[in-house]
Amino acid sequence: MSRDSNTTRHHVLWLRQDLRVADNTALHAACRDPEAAVTALYAVTPAQWQAHDVAGVRIDLELRQLRLLQADLAALAIPLVIIEAADYQALVPVLADWLRRHGVAELHGNRQYEVNEQSRDAALEAALGSDVRCCWHHDQCIIAPGRVLTADHRPYTVFTPFKRNWLAQLMTAPPPMLPIPARRRQQCATSTPVPAAVAGLASHVAPALAGQLWPAGEDAAHDRLHAFISDAGAHYDSQRDLPACNGTSTLSPYLAAGMLSPRQCLHAAWQQQAHGAGNGMATWISELCWRDFYKHILVHFPHVCRHQAFKRETDAIAWRHDEALFQAWCQGRTGFPIVDAAMRQLLATGWMHNRLRMITAMFLSKDLFIDWRWGERHFMRHLVDGDFAANNGGWQWSASTGNDAAPYFRIFNPLLQSRKFDPEGSFIRRFVPELAGLDGPDIHAPHAHGPSLLAADYPLPVIDHGRARDHAVAQFKALATATARTT
Ligand SMILES: Cc1cc2nc3c(=O)[nH]c(=O)nc-3n(C[C@H](O)[C@H](O)[C@H](O)COP(=O)(O)OP(=O)(O)OC[C@H]3O[C@@H](n4cnc5c(N)ncnc54)[C@H](O)[C@@H]3O)c2cc1C
Repeated sequence: MSRDSNTTRHHVLWLRQDLRVADNTALHAACRDPEAAVTALYAVTPAQWQAHDVAGVRIDLELRQLRLLQADLAALAIPLVIIEAADYQALVPVLADWLRRHGVAELHGNRQYEVNEQSRDAALEAALGSDVRCCWHHDQCIIAPGRVLTADHRPYTVFTPFKRNWLAQLMTAPPPMLPIPARRRQQCATSTPVPAAVAGLASHVAPALAGQLWPAGEDAAHDRLHAFISDAGAHYDSQRDLPACNGTSTLSPYLAAGMLSPRQCLHAAWQQQAHGAGNGMATWISELCWRDFYKHILVHFPHVCRHQAFKRETDAIAWRHDEALFQAWCQGRTGFPIVDAAMRQLLATGWMHNRLRMITAMFLSKDLFIDWRWGERHFMRHLVDGDFAANNGGWQWSASTGNDAAPYFRIFNPLLQSRKFDPEGSFIRRFVPELAGLDGPDIHAPHAHGPSLLAADYPLPVIDHGRARDHAVAQFKALATATARTT
C-alpha cells in the first residue's frame, strides 16, 4: 500500500465479463478522477458457476486471462484482488465487508443482464446503502438494451427490423472506443494471486491444447481479430457455413469473456469495409447484431432465464426424456456422421462451428424430440464461449420455441445438411476417425450402402429421420391447434 486509504479516494472496478484494459466502460469510469486510487476485484464463485453450468474450459481461459490482465493492470498501478465465495448469496456480505474496510467511495461494474446477476448487484447495493456509490455501466452490447425499440417503444422480437434500427443508429451515432486509462498516482490495496484452477471446474480439454486453441491475452484476441479480417473477412459470407474451412473468426470465447469488446470488432470491420472488402464484413456485422439481439431479448423477456420457453405455450410439449438417446447425442454416437463429428468437435475443443450448432440442436430437439434445455445445458457445460443469451437464443431458435425461431415444420435433414456444408466430408473425417477411410459421398450416410461400408465400431443411425420429422411436426401442429382453441 503506497498511501493511507483514509486520505485517498478509493474506487473499485469489479471485473466480470470484461477482462480487458482497452475500451472498458467501467474501468474508464473508475479512473475518471485522476487522483483516485483504483483497485480491480474479481470474484471466484465456484458453486454459482456450477449451478450455471459454466464450462471448466471457459474458467480455464478466464484464469489464464486474469494472470495476464493482472500484469497489464499493474502497469497502470491498479492492483487486482481475487475474492472467493461459494455463490452470489455468500459473495454479497464478503464484498460489502471488503469495500467498507478499504474505504471505497465508488464501485464500478459493467452490467451483466442475467436475472441472478441482476439480483446479486441489487443485493450488494442494498447491503452497502449510502456507504459506497454503485455505478453500473452498459458495456456488453454495441447498443445498450432498451435503446433499440419499435416506434411505439416496444422491444423487437424479430431480428430483421431490430437490425435495421440498430444499423441506422450506428450510422448516426457510431459508438466510441475508450482508451486505456493513465497510470494511477496512488494505490490503496495489494494484488492477490490468481488461482491456477477452481475445484470442481476442471477443463475437459487438455490444458496444452486449450492454451494452443484459445491463447489468453488482449494481444492474442486482437491478433485473431485482425488475422480474420484481413485473411478470411472478404470471403466470410461464402465460407462461414463450411465447418471444414477456417471461415469464421473464432472470436466468440474472447467476446464471451470480454477480452475483446464488440465495439472493437465493429470498428475493425468498418475499417476493412472502408478499404472495399466486399460483402463479407457486412455479413459479419450482422452476426455481431445477433449477439446484441439475444442480449436485448434476455433483458426484455427475463423469463427465458428461468428455464422457460420464450413462447410459453411450447412448454406444454411432451418432450421425450430418453437418457440413452441423449447420451448417444452427447458422445457423438448417433450414426449421423455430421452430427457425431460436430458433437465430438465440442468435446475435443470446447467449441463448435455455428452451422453445426444449428444442425445438432435441431437434431436433438426435432429428430430425437428431447427437451432443448438438456442440450442447452450440455452446450454450456462444454463451450469455451458459453454465453447464456446466445446459447439460449440459439437453442430456442432451433427448437422453434423462441422469438423469430425456425418454423416448426422447417426441419433440417442432417444428410442434406452434411452434403451441402461438408461436401468433401473432410470435417467428418477429422472428427470421426472410424469413417476416415470412406471415399466421396458415402461418408455422409455410410449405413445406406449396407454393412460393408460401416466400420465395426461406428453405430447405426439411432433414429429414422423421416419418421422423426413427421412425429415432431405432428406434435407442434397439435400444440398449435390446442393453443388456437384456447385463445
Ligand atoms: C444452439 C446454439 C448455441 C449457441 N451457443 C452460443 C454460445 O454459448 N456462445 C456464443 O457466443 N454463441 C453461441 N451461438 C452462436 C454462434 O454459433 C457462435 O457465436 C459462433 O459459432 C461463434 O463462432 P465465431 O466466433 O467464429 O463466429 P463469427 O461467425 O465470426 O461471428 C462473430 C461473432 O458474432 C457473434 N455471433 C455469431 N453468430 C451468433 C448468433 N447466432 N447468436 C449470437 N451471437 C452470434 C459471436 O460473438 C461471434 O464470435 C450458438 C448458436 C446456436 C445455434
